[in-house]
Amino acid sequence: MGQYFTFAKTAIKNLFSKPATTSYPFEPAVYPERSRGHVEIDVDLCILCGMCMRSCPPGAIEVKRADSVWTINRFDCVQCGYCVEKCPKKCLSIVPGYQEPGAEKYICEFKVPVKPAPAKPAAAKPAAAKPAAPAAEAPKAEAPKADAPKAEA
Ligand code: SF4
Ligand code: SF4
Repeated sequence: MGQYFTFAKTAIKNLFSKPATTSYPFEPAVYPERSRGHVEIDVDLCILCGMCMRSCPPGAIEVKRADSVWTINRFDCVQCGYCVEKCPKKCLSIVPGYQEPGAEKYICEFKVPVKPAPAKPAAAKPAAAKPAAPAAEAPKAEAPKADAPKAEA
């Protein structure tokens, strides 16, 4: 009998409380703070070094230096975060939110602005020739000491 009472209590409580589920997609999804959503890139910082591509376990990233293009296949990405960790310019991040559902697989492509080549440092001027140091004078040879006068016989 007690179990029926517990059941009835739960049923009545649920009748008057908010649903535990959300109304997505009719309402925007709320992602937990630490959820691993998708990889984003700040193309202005990217130097197309390719470290992310080499560190990506499933090979989801491709860096095309010749075309200044960075691509990611989000269907292959497993959100492990290695690329974010390895990027020397810290231009990658994992942000909450999943990609839009779609009927076809596609690759996201980002054009990386070409950075101006760093200015070469001005050629160092040759150092002015220093005047030759005067040659060290050779120590004068001491005059041989005069022999002690011989005692006359
Ligand atoms: S590691 Fe960073 S800087 Fe290098 S190509 Fe990838 S995103 Fe660009
Ligand atoms: S999060 Fe992991 S799987 Fe996704 S692109 Fe980065 S390295 Fe590759």
